[in-house]
Amino acid sequence: MNNLVDINCPLCGDDNHILWATENGFNCVCCGQCGLLYVNPLPNATYIEESVKLGGHVFEDGKQLNTKTRRMHSKQRYFERVVKQLFPDLLNRTSVAWLDVGAGYGEFVQALLSVLPTSSIVEGLEPMTHKVEKAREFNLPVRLGFLSGVTASYDVVSIIDVFSHIPDFPGFLSSIKSVLNSDGEILVKTGNAAEIGKRSNFPGALNLPDHLMFGGVTQLTRFFEDAGFTVIGMEVERIDGMWYSFKNLAKYLLGKPVSISLPYTSPTRTIWMRARLNTLPLDRRDEKA
Ligand SMILES: [Zn+2]
Repeated sequence: MNNLVDINCPLCGDDNHILWATENGFNCVCCGQCGLLYVNPLPNATYIEESVKLGGHVFEDGKQLNTKTRRMHSKQRYFERVVKQLFPDLLNRTSVAWLDVGAGYGEFVQALLSVLPTSSIVEGLEPMTHKVEKAREFNLPVRLGFLSGVTASYDVVSIIDVFSHIPDFPGFLSSIKSVLNSDGEILVKTGNAAEIGKRSNFPGALNLPDHLMFGGVTQLTRFFEDAGFTVIGMEVERIDGMWYSFKNLAKYLLGKPVSISLPYTSPTRTIWMRARLNTLPLDRRDEKA
C-alpha cells in the first residue's frame, strides 16, 4: 500500500483527511472538511489517460483490473425515462444540441435519439476504441476522443458514470463550460459513496484507482456552484433491489470484494443531477427555443 501524502482536497482545498478504504494497493481518503472521497496519492496524468483508453489497469504485483464493461441494451429504457423526467421542457423545443461525454457503447446516446425532438443534434464522445466501434455497429453517432478536441457548442453536456474517473473535476467543468451555449446545462449521473458513512456500507468493489473520486449530493452541488452552475433538477435512486443483492451474493461466493446485504437496506444511491449555467427561470426558457 502506498503511504498517504499531503494533498489538497480537489473540492474544498483542505489537506485534512482520514483513510476511508484501501483496494488494489491504493488508498481512498475522506476529506475532513467537505466529505469528498478521493484517491491518495493520485496516479499521474499519463497513467490515468492510458488506463482510460485501455479499459484496464495492471498493478505492480501483476494483478489486473479489467474495466471493460459490457454493452447493456437494457439501459436504454431506463435512460429514456430519466431524460423525460428531468428534461420535460427540452422535449418541447424544436431541437436540442446534446453531447454525451464518456458515451461508452452509446446506450445513453441511443436513449436521447429516441426521446429528443427529431431535429436535435446528438453526439457521443468516448476515449475507448472498442466501445466506439461497438456503438458504430448500432449506427450511433459516437466518436473517439476527449473533450479537449471538441469545437462545437451544445445546449447540454452529459457525463454518465464519468465523475469518479476525473482527477481534476473543477478543470473538467471548465472544459465543459467552453463547449456549452451561454445558458447551457450539464447532466451528471454518479453514486453517492461520500454520503454512506463507512466503507462497509458500499456493497461492491470501489474499483480503485479506475475510480479516483466519490461524492454525494452535497459535494456535487458544491462543485457545480463553484463553477457557476445552478442545480435545477435531481433524482436520487436506490440501487439495492432484489436482483442487485442477488448478484452481489453471487459475486461474494466467487470471492469478489463485495459486501453482501439484504435488499433495500443499503444507503448507496444513484444521483442524477441537472445544472444550468445561467439562471433563467424554466418558464422563460421555452421563449428562447
Ligand atoms: Zn474537501
